[in-house]
Amino acid sequence: MTNQDFVEKLISDKTLQTPRIINAFKAIDRKDFVLSEGEGRAYEDRPLSIGFGATISQPTTIAIMLEKLQPEPTSNVLEVGTGSGYLTALLAKIVWDSGEVFSIEYIPELKEFAKANLKKYNFRNVSLFVGDGKKGLKEYAPFDKIISSASGNEILKEWKRQLKIGGRIVAPVDDNLIVLDKLSKRKFKENKISGFIFVPLQ
Ligand code: SAH
Repeated sequence: MTNQDFVEKLISDKTLQTPRIINAFKAIDRKDFVLSEGEGRAYEDRPLSIGFGATISQPTTIAIMLEKLQPEPTSNVLEVGTGSGYLTALLAKIVWDSGEVFSIEYIPELKEFAKANLKKYNFRNVSLFVGDGKKGLKEYAPFDKIISSASGNEILKEWKRQLKIGGRIVAPVDDNLIVLDKLSKRKFKENKISGFIFVPLQ
């Protein structure tokens, strides 16, 4: 099995639909983001341990999240929970033209793991940070898009504050995926998709 095989499967089952997102999945090899002992399983549609209680997310889950997020070529994106850097790489590829990705990870060793994995791609539009993503990244706000791979009990106030009007958050709350649009300073529209399992926000 190859990276192309699992991308073709995500296209044929209609999980992936947007050309820009499909191109990113084709360009980024998931094998570059797993631990060496997981390489043989890199193209299976399941999460894999990357140590420290974290996992590289399941491809189907990431595909659903990106199709909901709809990053534009110009989007300023905040990612919470860098982990392996796989989603970071997909985002960087999607917003390549003039967008930027700011990704924050709680565990310093994982930030270093992601940095080493991302080196293979020479992205110039990615910045990695160690810290508590629950606070967002005020210095680089506002963001067009915010995506989190770790789940909390609610969509955090700081994220809502750091989102542009017209922007979108895709993040898990408990075992649901929430899609939140910021309509005005205080008005939000929420959609919920159920049936996911995520690593909890620390
Ligand atoms: N999309 C990533 C998923 C990593 S799992 C991938 O595919 O590799 C979720 C990550 O969120 C873990 O690495 C975990 O350490 C991180 N995390 C948990 N709580 C966090 C917090 N408060 N701030 C930043 N990162 C956090």
